[in-house]
Formats: sequence, structure tokens, C-alpha cells
Amino acid sequence: MQILLAEDDDGVAAALVEVLYDHGHVTRRVRYGRDVLTYHRSADLLLLDLGLPDTDGLDVLRALRAVSAMSVVVLTARGDERSVVRGLRLGADDYLVKPVRLAELLARIDAVTRRAAGPPGARIVRTVRAGDVEVDLEARRVQVAGAEVELTAKEFDVLAVLAGRAGTAVSREQLLDEVWGHAHHAMSRSRSLDVHLTQLRAKLGRPELLTTIRGFGYRFGDATDFGD
Ligand code: CA
Repeated sequence: MQILLAEDDDGVAAALVEVLYDHGHVTRRVRYGRDVLTYHRSADLLLLDLGLPDTDGLDVLRALRAVSAMSVVVLTARGDERSVVRGLRLGADDYLVKPVRLAELLARIDAVTRRAAGPPGARIVRTVRAGDVEVDLEARRVQVAGAEVELTAKEFDVLAVLAGRAGTAVSREQLLDEVWGHAHHAMSRSRSLDVHLTQLRAKLGRPELLTTIRGFGYRFGDATDFGD
């Protein structure tokens, strides 16, 4: 398997590259967060340190998740619960705290890869439909009754988080984390979410599509629209 390793510590990186190689994985090691966004396409799995010299790893993860569903295992010294929760919410498939036990790391890489492959014949859903609304998550396009609706990048990001879990309630906190990240002021990102949701609802013209779940968050569509 091709692994992309984002790690700024030379000693840690060298040890990881060696043990991964011994277990049949080819690793490209990068030092900076920005390199992850340059090289992710050529890898099957990303091993991501959070304390990188240029960008916080969680910001790298959020940027990556906007463009890629690749497997991500966070590997970091940051073991506090808040960081672990943020990492998983932002889309990490697994989260390991350093110092890592190497056999466990290899087993977790295998487990994440197995899950990503899914059962034979399964494929990742890229287009979500609810009534006459169609959201293409890959192409970042939305159609209502066959007509294209123009959304801003942020409006689409909000819609994509909700449509990606269609029929399921998504908490406000999770939506804020995924679209705005923790770098922004809590009050301003909260206001920003309200503004974007209002715009989104107006542009889509389907008030029943984005349901507010009082005191919790939002849901795209109705659970009954999507089976199960
Ligand atoms: Ca580091």
C-alpha cells in the first residue's frame, strides 16, 4: 500500500518508514501540512501528525476532507479528549497517541484499510437525492428540479456536511468544526453558520429539506427518504 506520512520529527519518521517498509508499505514522508494537500492523491492512506511546522494537523485534515475520502490515521502526542474528539469528528478514521506501539499501528492501518474497501461491490455514495434535489458531492454541484443552483463555497460546504449524512441529525458543533474549524472565533463562526443556512434555504427553495432540530442541530432530508 502507498502511505503518505506527515511527520516533522526525523527520528520518528525514519523509524515509521522502516517498519512500514518491512510490512510491505511504500511510504512518502513529508514534513509540512501543505505537502499533504500536494501529494495525497498518490497515496491510499495518510498517517498524520498534528504538530506540524506550518499548519495544525487538524486544519490539514479539514482541508483534505473537503477534497478526499482517503483513509486517515492521526498519530500524535496530543492525547487530550478534546483533540481526539475533534480529530475523529473532522474525519480521521482512527486516532493514535504517541508513543505508538508499532504492532498496534500496523493492525490499525489494516483495519482502517479493510473498512475503506467495504464489502465487495459496495461503493461510496457521491450523489445524494432528496425529492427533486440532487447534490453531487464530488462535482460540488446542486440541482433543484433539474436546474442548477449557484452556491458559494461555504454554502456548499455546509450543505455537503449535511447531505453527506442525509437522514441523520448533525450537531451544530460538528457542522462548525467541519466547515469553520477551531481557528475561528466561536461567536463569529456561529453567526456565520446561521447566515449561510438562511442563504442556503433561500437558494434551494425547499424549506422542508433542511430541518432544524431544536437545541441540537440540523438534518438533511427525512430518514424515510433514504431507506432503512
Ligand atoms: Ca510533530
